[in-house]
Amino acid sequence: MKVDLQTPFEKDANYSASYQEVIAYYQKLDSFSNMLSVQEFGMTDAGYPLHEIIISNDGAFDPDQIRENGKLVLFINNGIHPGEPCGIDASMMLTRDLIFKQTALLERITVVLVPVYNIGGTLNRGSYSRANQEGPQAYGFRGNAKNLDLNRDFIKCDSKNAQSFNQLFSKWNPELFIDTHTSNGADYQYTMTLIATQKDKLGGPLADYLINHLLPAQYDAMKNEGWEMTPYVYARETPDEGIAGFLDLPRYSSGYASLKNSISYMPETHMLKPYKDRVMSTYTFLLHTLRIMQEQSGDLQQAYSDQLKYLQNQTHFPIQWSLSFDQADTILFKGYEAGFKPSEVTGHSRLYYDRAKPYEKKVPFYNNYKQSLSVEKPDMYIIPQAYDAVIERLKWNNVEIELLDEDRSFEAEIYYIKDFETSPSAYEGHYLHSNVQSESRTLQMHFRKGDVIVRTNQPQVRYIIETLEPQSADSFFAWNFFDGILMQKEYFSSYVFEDLAAELLSKDPALKKALNEAKAADPKLAENGRAQLDFIYKRSPHFEQTYMRYPVARIFN
Ligand SMILES: [Zn+2]
Repeated sequence: MKVDLQTPFEKDANYSASYQEVIAYYQKLDSFSNMLSVQEFGMTDAGYPLHEIIISNDGAFDPDQIRENGKLVLFINNGIHPGEPCGIDASMMLTRDLIFKQTALLERITVVLVPVYNIGGTLNRGSYSRANQEGPQAYGFRGNAKNLDLNRDFIKCDSKNAQSFNQLFSKWNPELFIDTHTSNGADYQYTMTLIATQKDKLGGPLADYLINHLLPAQYDAMKNEGWEMTPYVYARETPDEGIAGFLDLPRYSSGYASLKNSISYMPETHMLKPYKDRVMSTYTFLLHTLRIMQEQSGDLQQAYSDQLKYLQNQTHFPIQWSLSFDQADTILFKGYEAGFKPSEVTGHSRLYYDRAKPYEKKVPFYNNYKQSLSVEKPDMYIIPQAYDAVIERLKWNNVEIELLDEDRSFEAEIYYIKDFETSPSAYEGHYLHSNVQSESRTLQMHFRKGDVIVRTNQPQVRYIIETLEPQSADSFFAWNFFDGILMQKEYFSSYVFEDLAAELLSKDPALKKALNEAKAADPKLAENGRAQLDFIYKRSPHFEQTYMRYPVARIFN
């Protein structure tokens, strides 16, 4: 009997496999091959477990053993946005082909893949949520079972999916990571566009290796296979005006992965191209990335170990970036002429792309980001044990921690939050803070037995710094883990505080002078008695020291 190992997509090129079909297919492959491990790994919000698929040609399915065998790891994540399922279908074919036809590609590489990440969204199957997308005929929805966009959840981990994923990813520490997507936006000739993790933000030997060796080989391979790629079209208005590099913050998959020293990608197929082409170009990208990784495995291994050394010697870490328009690379872009015409619907001018008018022209590619803020790496951070949700996330990410074994005081650098903005509407389950301004003070701080010490001389240093420094865009502070400090807890009654305030002023000429100067500079203060009392209160020993004090201490030995 001939076994049918065709995937549902191969039987109908406009069909994407359902969740049940995906899992059944991997289980079937597993029953035919000892090169595959199909296991559950952690839970998701939908009540279904995440699956971890390992493809390995030497019987090793354990990360330590795989590293001992000198192998590298490619980690592929699919279906984070279930309306963009190309990678789900492509990975099924890839897995089969790796174990039956392309086993040579596994000589130096082990592949770990998540067949479907957003299971809740995948089960919420329909045909309308991706307006204008060219197939497949049915697909899942972007929000997960809690209506979260999982591609914003990698740091805050509101979903069980992300909690499991943090642990799965940290178990493997892959050298390369690919999270498969489909993009909308401008029209152009390419089926495949590519977000490689932002090179300046990745930094170090890995960024050099990515730009000079890996990416050129990937672009060449895709062109040779008939799927010429362009950088993700993150356009100003239309692509002719230039393309900007995407800053993949750690909330996104590739930004999260690069924090953890993986070279990472979000391939984005174009939604206006036929589903068949999108799946086949994704398949080709995955297969050839594996081939190139294998060919360059020595260089990649070297770059990876150089990166860890580079990070250990790095004293200042950038935590904010801004796009530089000063310099641009020039790329040859294959687009369609854009024009404007009156809208039949609104009568206003509307944009359109004319597919009858393809063009090739050189456009600027703005892919240089400059550091706009960096911080000095402390020797360690101390996190009060009260912040257990933060500590839990560090543990999921294999951050090594120690517990204080006795009550102890440290001289510490402490941030006071001076200013910040908060999104006026809910963003992915949070009211995200941004543009955080802080002031540091050196204080003697008391910590208790069980508080958590996080040393920075460890491989997860970037994850530690970017989550614990409140001014970074995806810090735990930004994601509301420390909002308790943002509200004052004690106040005063004006009529009783009056006498005390008078006494404070008479004993403290400097305070009196400061008040007079402030009144002269601010007529509103001069007219407002309560505000003047508050001015004195906030500068008195009666005012609480914990208000706006960021509780994670920075310690220098
Ligand atoms: Zn997407």
